[in-house]
Amino acid sequence: MSPADALLSWFCAHARDLPWRGAGASPWPVMVSEFMLQQTPVARVLPYFTQWMRQWPTPADLAAASPADVVRAWDTLGYPRRALWLHEAAATIVDAYGGEVPADYSALRRLSGVGDYTASAILAFAFGVRIPVIDTNVRRVWWRWELGQDDAAVQPRVEHAALERWLPADGHRAAQVSLAIMEFGALICTARTPLCTQCPIAETCQWRERGYPRPATRVRPISKRYEGSDRQARGRILAVLRRTADATELTAQTVNWQDPGQFERAVSSLANDGLITQVRENVWKLPD
Ligand code: SF4
Repeated sequence: MSPADALLSWFCAHARDLPWRGAGASPWPVMVSEFMLQQTPVARVLPYFTQWMRQWPTPADLAAASPADVVRAWDTLGYPRRALWLHEAAATIVDAYGGEVPADYSALRRLSGVGDYTASAILAFAFGVRIPVIDTNVRRVWWRWELGQDDAAVQPRVEHAALERWLPADGHRAAQVSLAIMEFGALICTARTPLCTQCPIAETCQWRERGYPRPATRVRPISKRYEGSDRQARGRILAVLRRTADATELTAQTVNWQDPGQFERAVSSLANDGLITQVRENVWKLPD
């Protein structure tokens, strides 16, 4: 049995039931879920996704909303620039594609907030296009199972070609295989403690065969503390503005932030991102 077939069988038995998956999933919910899942875990996304789709079930519905409503609905999901990108993308879908998410890689890449991963995910999961969908989970499974390494520097086109070889010829089945690898990487072949005793491809895993070598030196991204960070300052400011439809005076004191310099920096970056609009000195509101 190929690794793809083995992972697909595992997926059929163990996949989480998520509202943006399955035969009934149409392109718009797939696109919304992919925006929300960038840098945010599934469990956190679920209630926001449900509410979002209830409020804006089509791109036209979202395009007609005000940016303020969109930022308000994004609430504390994090990285709120994604909300405005999704809103801008919805407007482009309405203006340029008749309100339908385009089934074309180049067209998708031209939408705000859509990079290679998101375009590939939409094509595969919404339209059944045979294209590798490569996130950190997929990459890690491939490194371990095929390369026998826990970390590797591989050119994107080599990675793309290798993972394309995992996919069956049929596009819809290929999409299921991509989902299966992602889910398997998220639940079983995890970064820190892979559950190899539950692994359906353990017998042929090169990393296991080699005794699980870890790289001697690995540059791990430094996880930045949220407490006291610019992100927290930005979140504090947005939280104040989300609570009211009115323009509001914002100072370090009114948002209860200790560092005035950091507060000013947070206000500037939110304004640069289009997430807040200045009414007059020290008075701000969510964008119209
Ligand atoms: S044997 Fe372990 S490391 Fe190898 S693919 Fe399976 S879960 Fe991952």
